[in-house]
Amino acid sequence: MTISYQKFGLKEVINASGRMTILGVSKVSETVLSAQRFGGEHFFEMADLSEKTGAYIANLLAVEDAQIVSSASAGIAQSVAAIIGQGSSYHAYHPYTEKVTKREIILPKGHNVDYGTPVEVMVQQGGGTVIEAGYANMCAPEHIEMMITEQTAAILYIKSHHTVQKSMLTVAQAAKVAKAHQLPLIVDAAAEEDLFAYIKDGADLVIYSGAKAIEGPSAGLVIGKKKYIQWVRLQGKGIGRAMKIGKDNILGFTQAIEDYLSNGTESGEAMKARLTPFVERINEIDGLTASIVQDGAGREIYRGSVKVNGRKNAKEVISELKEKDPAVYTREYQANNGIIEFDIRSVNEEEMKKIVTRLEEIM
Ligand SMILES: *Cc1c(COP(=O)(O)O)cnc(C)c1O
Repeated sequence: MTISYQKFGLKEVINASGRMTILGVSKVSETVLSAQRFGGEHFFEMADLSEKTGAYIANLLAVEDAQIVSSASAGIAQSVAAIIGQGSSYHAYHPYTEKVTKREIILPKGHNVDYGTPVEVMVQQGGGTVIEAGYANMCAPEHIEMMITEQTAAILYIKSHHTVQKSMLTVAQAAKVAKAHQLPLIVDAAAEEDLFAYIKDGADLVIYSGAKAIEGPSAGLVIGKKKYIQWVRLQGKGIGRAMKIGKDNILGFTQAIEDYLSNGTESGEAMKARLTPFVERINEIDGLTASIVQDGAGREIYRGSVKVNGRKNAKEVISELKEKDPAVYTREYQANNGIIEFDIRSVNEEEMKKIVTRLEEIM
């Protein structure tokens, strides 16, 4: 039986809610799929595949070197292990050995977050010990500086909406402290859109997630100084083995990075153009009034905003949309005001037609 939703009794899901981890984050493009397919259907000298895709990405990003890993989380664990091990094969085979004592990783307290998993768990997996700097509501360069000891291995900075933003030192400030004390700075920029900024700011290693902003397959990317990337690669013989990534996703993710750099994300104008016929058709349905609205935070994201004023209220419509097959997930933040929002970044034309059909049935 060929693969399908039916084979496993799963519901088809249309994701009109945005980038949601609980729905599988994002879809990959045709070019990424064909790269994954080429990977799946061929053999490679794997060490070569890993190094040469890394060099190709490094060239695109104008950095010394790069290494694809299985996730941003794996990137954190392997970067920490790499810095602690300093390229020692003994350490790679004995990652938690007492013979290596320099294991402290300084992290601003407000960056010690849970992104679905605590950052600290990944640091520990890499053999590091988190040393928090600063306070719950602030961290200045001197707070980092005062935590540096003989046992400090690296400084870790989490660039993310999950962290405390207020009174927080910048990546460039953290890099300055790191340089002054000859320590490497690792930046976790898993969900960030800018693939250049943090290296420019002075980070030694920067980590990205494959399926978030870059919209690739499940993967992670570590970029930065050649020496450190070599040490990260060595972890493939140690803790990295439990985080192995397949040849299909190595090639698919490389393609996704290239596509992301040349096409960027969908423009606001393109979203508006795709939304126009969708909104017109919804306006023909009794009890619904639709318009195009910009993202509340002012980002270049446009959405279909649908006011419900029929026999049913917005909350009932939202739950009925999720109930049937296909299950349609929407943005629910405005439901109390009688409004349902449709984020179409991961919705194609055919799926928009299915949404309209479901709305007609429900109303
Ligand atoms: C999502 C996220 C991660 C983990 O990314 P994965 O690729 O899913 O492992 C790490 N750090 C931050 C800040 C994140 O948002």
